[in-house]
Amino acid sequence: MVRGMMLRAIFAVSVLSGLLVSCAPSGRDYWGHRPGPRGFRTVILDAGHGGKDDGATSSTTGQREKDLTLDMVKRIRAELGGGFRTVLMRSDDTFIDLDDRVRRTHRYGDAVVVSVHFNSSASHIRGPETYYWRVDSHGLAVRLQRAMAATSPAEEGNRGLVRRRLRLTRNPEIPCVLIECGYISNPSEARLIADAGYRQALAKSIASAIREQSARGDAGTGPLPEPINSPPSRPTDARE
Ligand SMILES: [Zn+2]
Repeated sequence: MVRGMMLRAIFAVSVLSGLLVSCAPSGRDYWGHRPGPRGFRTVILDAGHGGKDDGATSSTTGQREKDLTLDMVKRIRAELGGGFRTVLMRSDDTFIDLDDRVRRTHRYGDAVVVSVHFNSSASHIRGPETYYWRVDSHGLAVRLQRAMAATSPAEEGNRGLVRRRLRLTRNPEIPCVLIECGYISNPSEARLIADAGYRQALAKSIASAIREQSARGDAGTGPLPEPINSPPSRPTDARE
């Protein structure tokens, strides 16, 4: 009996909090079980790796992931223009621990995080790929993946969307998406990525995806995924 009442009470509270967050989809939210944001004006751009952490290195071009990600966030910031307040997680070649990156996102409420990476795997694999975890990050993830796939010339240029619990997709309390802008381990994609004109085109498409999410919310991005209650990601989780 007590248990039943408690369950009803929990249900009532969760319905109420659901109503509250649906009125205010922006701002910080621990779980992110809500629609994607609309009308946000702050974009946190996280250049993956840095300092002692090179990330992947291309055996084709010799380019390091940490340099490419920094180059990309600066291009995305420029493409976003004055309509947004952009925050760069790092603006030079410095190392920032993943948990520190997450803590820095906690300074912001009405904002989204886009973490920028380049991928590495078996040399035949290529194409952009997008990771998300929170329900409120799904729409932005769909838009980012669509935009990058449309820019990538690879026939199989769409590695698609992956729902994965990473420190930069689960632990921030605001919508957050991690994009892999292509494989620098694939010789032809690595050569493409080495071309500044291609990186600029990618940055332009990424900026337009962010702008569209702010203007339209989740409209046109398909049904929301199921909420999953899972604790923050830890360093001992699967490799990032
Ligand atoms: Zn990376």
